[in-house]
Amino acid sequence: MADSTPEQVTLTIDSQSVTVPAGTNLIEAARTLGIEIPHFCYHPRLSIAGNCRMCLVDIEKMPKNQIACSTKAAPGMIVRTRSDKAVKARQGVMEFLLINHPLDCPICDQAGECVLQDFSYHYGTGGSRFEGQKVHHDKNVDLGPHIVFDGERCIKCTRCIRFCDEVTHTHELGLFSRGDHTIIGTFPGKELDNAYSGCTADICPVGALTVKEFRFKQRVWFLRNTASICAGCARGCNVNLGINEERIWRITPRDNDAVNQSWICDEGRLSFQIYQQAERLGRALTSSAGGATKEMLVASGYEQAAATLGEIARKHGGATVAGITSGHATVEEQAGLKELIERAGGSRIALPVHERGDDDALLIRRDKTANTVGARLAGGANCTMEDLLTAIKIGKVRALVVLREDFLGEFGAEAMTARGALDFLMTLDWRVTATVKASDVALPLSAYGEMDGSFINFQGRIQLLRPGLTPYEESDPAWKPLLEIASRLGGAAVPKNFREAFRWAASRVPELSHLDTPALGKFGVSLESPASGQG
Ligand code: SF4
Ligand code: SF4
Repeated sequence: MADSTPEQVTLTIDSQSVTVPAGTNLIEAARTLGIEIPHFCYHPRLSIAGNCRMCLVDIEKMPKNQIACSTKAAPGMIVRTRSDKAVKARQGVMEFLLINHPLDCPICDQAGECVLQDFSYHYGTGGSRFEGQKVHHDKNVDLGPHIVFDGERCIKCTRCIRFCDEVTHTHELGLFSRGDHTIIGTFPGKELDNAYSGCTADICPVGALTVKEFRFKQRVWFLRNTASICAGCARGCNVNLGINEERIWRITPRDNDAVNQSWICDEGRLSFQIYQQAERLGRALTSSAGGATKEMLVASGYEQAAATLGEIARKHGGATVAGITSGHATVEEQAGLKELIERAGGSRIALPVHERGDDDALLIRRDKTANTVGARLAGGANCTMEDLLTAIKIGKVRALVVLREDFLGEFGAEAMTARGALDFLMTLDWRVTATVKASDVALPLSAYGEMDGSFINFQGRIQLLRPGLTPYEESDPAWKPLLEIASRLGGAAVPKNFREAFRWAASRVPELSHLDTPALGKFGVSLESPASGQG
C-alpha cells in the first residue's frame, strides 16, 4: 500500500487500496475505483447538505455508519460499502424515502433517468412495511416561467435550493412546514425565474422539478444524445442534444470544467426552438424577371455565382467583390467565404455585431454569436457593417456574398439603399430571410444540429459542433458551396468531408495549423494552452 502524505491520502474501500488528494470525500474516493456510493442530496458542485442519508457506509472502528459525502478520506481508513451493516442502512433509507412517494413512475417524466427509480431497484428491498395513508401534496405547482413542481415526488434533498443560493445567488427557493409536511416552495412574492432555472430540473434527482417546454413531450429512452455545443452566445457551453424522429426535443448541459461546469442558461436550453419555427431554405433560388425568386439546381447556383463574380471582377476590378461573414458561421465556413472573396480578387469582409445585455458572472455573454473569434482569426473579418454599406453606396463594392446574416432585415433602409447599388447579391443561409428574398442567388445551408463544424469561444477554446439530424433538403455546410464556387474561379479542390474541410481551414491559420478534429474530442482545446482543460 502506498504511504499517505500531507497532500495524498491512502485508504481502503471494499478491500481495494486507493490514494486520493487530501480532503477528498468518500463518495469521490470510491468513484475513482469505479465503486458507486448511492446518493441523492450530494452534488459535487454544491455544498454538502448530508440530509438524504443514502450514502451511509460502514467504516472500521466506527460504531455507527457514516455518511460518505461529508466524511473525508483519512490515512489507513477501511471503508465497506457492501457490508451487511451498510446494505441494511441503505435499504432502510430507501424504504423511508418511498413512504410518502406516490410511486407514479409510469406517468413521471423522470422515469428512465430517475436516480430514485434506479437506486430503489439496486439498493431497495422492493417492499414497504408502511400501511398508513401517504401524505399528499400539490402535484402541479407553477414555480416560474420554465419550471413545474410536483410536491409528492420531492425527497427534500435541497439541491434546488442550494443551486439558487450558491450558483445563481438568486435565493428564490426555501423549505416550508415541518416533519413529513415539509415542502419546497418559492418565498412570498418570488418566482423561480433566474436565467438558469432549468438547471434545477437537471439536478433534481427525481421527477419533482420538470421543464415545461419538455415535460410530456418524449420518453427519455427514445432520445439519442448528441454531444455538441450551444450556439447561443460566445461561451459555447457543452451540451447534449436530445434527438428523436429528426427533431431536437431538449438541450441539456454536458460537464466541461473549462467552459460551463455543469450548467447552461435557459435561453441556450431553448435555443433549438428557433430552428423549428423559422421558414427553412431547402433549395437554391435565383431572381426572376418579375422580382420574385425561383428554384434552380444547386450546381446551377455555383455556375451562375462563379460566372457573375468573375465578370464583375473583370469589369470593375476584383476589389469590388466583398463579403459579409458571421459569428454564427463555423470556422470552416468563415474560411470558405474568405477564400471565395480572395479568389475573386477582393478582400473586404464585414462582421455584423450581435450583442445584447451584459456578460453575467456565471456563463452568459453579451456577444450572442458563438464564433466571433473565428470570424476574425479564420474569416478575415476586417471592416464594420457601416464601412461596408458606405463602400457599396459610393460604388466601391458591386458584388456582395453574405454568409448566415440577414443584413437587409437588420440594417433597414440604409441596407435597402445599398442593395439597390449592388450589381450582384448572393446569400447563403438556412432560413428564408429578407436578404435571401432580395438575392440574385441564394444557396441553402444546413442548420444547427444538422452539421459538423468548429467554433472558437470567447476564451479562445476551439470546440466541435456535432450533427444528430439529417441536413434539410439540399442544404450543406457553407464551406461546400463557397469552395465549389471558389474552385470555379481557380481555387483548390473542394474538401470531401468535414475533417478535410477542418484541416484545410486550420492549415491557413497559424494558431490552428497543428490541430485535427480527433484532437478536439468532446471538450475542445484551448488555443492559449492546448493541453489544458480536457473536461
Ligand atoms: S424538488 Fe428535487 S431538487 Fe428540490 S428538494 Fe425536491 S427532490 Fe431535491
Ligand atoms: S451561456 Fe451562452 S452558450 Fe451557454 S447555454 Fe447560455 S446561450 Fe448557450
